[in-house]
Amino acid sequence: MKGPVFAANWKMHLGPTEARAFVAAFLARYTPREDRTVVLCPPAISMSAVRDALGDRRDILLGAQNVYSEPKGAFTGETSVAMAADAGARVVLVGHSERRHVFGETDEATARKCALASAQGLVPILCVGETLEQREAGETEQVSLRQLRAGLASLSREQVLSCAIAYEPVWAIGTGRTATPADAAAVHTVIRRELLALAGPGAAGISILYGGSVNRENAAALVAALEVGGLLVGGASLDPESWNAIAST
Ligand code: PEP
Repeated sequence: MKGPVFAANWKMHLGPTEARAFVAAFLARYTPREDRTVVLCPPAISMSAVRDALGDRRDILLGAQNVYSEPKGAFTGETSVAMAADAGARVVLVGHSERRHVFGETDEATARKCALASAQGLVPILCVGETLEQREAGETEQVSLRQLRAGLASLSREQVLSCAIAYEPVWAIGTGRTATPADAAAVHTVIRRELLALAGPGAAGISILYGGSVNRENAAALVAALEVGGLLVGGASLDPESWNAIAST
C-alpha cells in the first residue's frame, strides 16, 4: 500500500443503507490523491454495499474488520478470508484490541488469521498495543513486540513484507486520550527495528499505522511523527466530513 495509509474502522456501525449514504457523502468531499492509500473497513454485512457504492474508485480500498482463524466450516456467524476477498476486501484488520480484549482472541488465533489473509492475497493490518496497566508497568515495548512476533510467526519473509502494522495503545482507543506524537514515534521505532530484524531491509517499506482517538485536530501531527506511516481511525471515521479531513491530511 502506498503510504501514508488512512484506514477507517467503523466497528459495529453503519449497516448497508447507512454505509451507502456514507460513501456517497465521502466521495462528494474527497479529492483523490496519488500519494496515499485510503481504506474503509465496514462491518462484514456492509462490505458489498460499500464495494458497490465505490464503483470504479480504485484509489479507495475495501477492508474487513476481522476474519475467522479457519478457512471454512461449521463456524456459525463467522466470515472466512475467502469470503471477505470475494466481497471485495483487499485488506483485513487482524488482532484489533477489541478482538483481543472483548472476544478473548489469542496471539495464536491472530497468527492463523494473518497467515490465512496473507495466503489469500489480502493485506493483513496486524494491530498491537498495550493496556494502561501494561503501560504503567513499563511493558509497552515488550507487549507490542510480543504481539508483533506472535502475529507474524507463521509468515514467510515475503509475506511479512506485504503486511501492515497498526500500533494502537488500548488506553487510547475510543477514550479521547491520544498518544503524543513522541510516544507514538518511540514505539513505532521499536516496531520498525523488529520488522527489519525479521524481514530484512525491505521492511523499511512496511506501513506502521498509529491508532487511538485520532481526530481531525490531531491527525496531522500524529502522521508526521517519526515512523508513523498512516492512521487507523475508529470514531472519527464515522462522519464523512471528519473522515475526509483526516484522509486528506
Ligand atoms: C480503532 O477502532 O482502531 C480506533 C483507533 O478507534 P478510535 O479512533 O475511536 O480510538
